[in-house]
Amino acid sequence: AKKLDLERILHRQGFGTRKMCRILIVNEEVTVNGALCDDPDATFELDNLDFTVQGEAWQYREHSYLMMHKPAHYECTHKTQFHPTIYTLLPAPLVERGIQCIGRLDEDTTGLILLSDDGQFIHKISSPKHHVPKVYAVDCKHPVSDEQLQTLLSGVQLVDEDQTIAALEIVRISENMIHMTLAEGKYHQVKRMVAAIGNRVEHLKRIRIGQLVLPEDLLPGEWRWLSGQDLAALN
Ligand code: URA
Repeated sequence: AKKLDLERILHRQGFGTRKMCRILIVNEEVTVNGALCDDPDATFELDNLDFTVQGEAWQYREHSYLMMHKPAHYECTHKTQFHPTIYTLLPAPLVERGIQCIGRLDEDTTGLILLSDDGQFIHKISSPKHHVPKVYAVDCKHPVSDEQLQTLLSGVQLVDEDQTIAALEIVRISENMIHMTLAEGKYHQVKRMVAAIGNRVEHLKRIRIGQLVLPEDLLPGEWRWLSGQDLAALN
């Protein structure tokens, strides 16, 4: 199994420069597998490595995969413009590792968003070739007529798109609420499609990516690691 010294382990896991990590260790702020370790050069196997930094529990991870329930009024960007970014909702070491959201939700859109620092994974999920379907709960301003619903399913012409775009599936939830499945993730796609049928999106929430459903007990602003099962649901 692969071994690494503690200073490098912390550095790779996003706890700052090598020097900063060294200081944390000699200051007795780090435990490994349940025991205090104040030696930056002590080596450990990376598999199943549990550690704490200043009392917070971590597990060594080569790459990070997580889901977040994006709250409204947060932006999916690294630079703050008009609203705080979703990255402020994550522990600093994860941001330091270069974690990025996969695709973007609008500032006022809520719901399931995936984040990772694994470039291959990000590419796989976001590449148009893979067609990972996404399901949105769309609350419309006006009742959605059967005709409007059929138009979304047969395809609408959006400005700046060569071809018409159709929803893969639509489930009516109430007069104004539909669940719409899309194969693509074009800019403002749901809002533009709903506008194209003469209606308007009041609230938009992403509730599923692939077979991965936004868990009911994951509240807005909360995040969690993806389990092996979650990852399988994305394939
Ligand atoms: N479609 C939109 O219009 N906005 C989103 O945030 C996601 C999909």
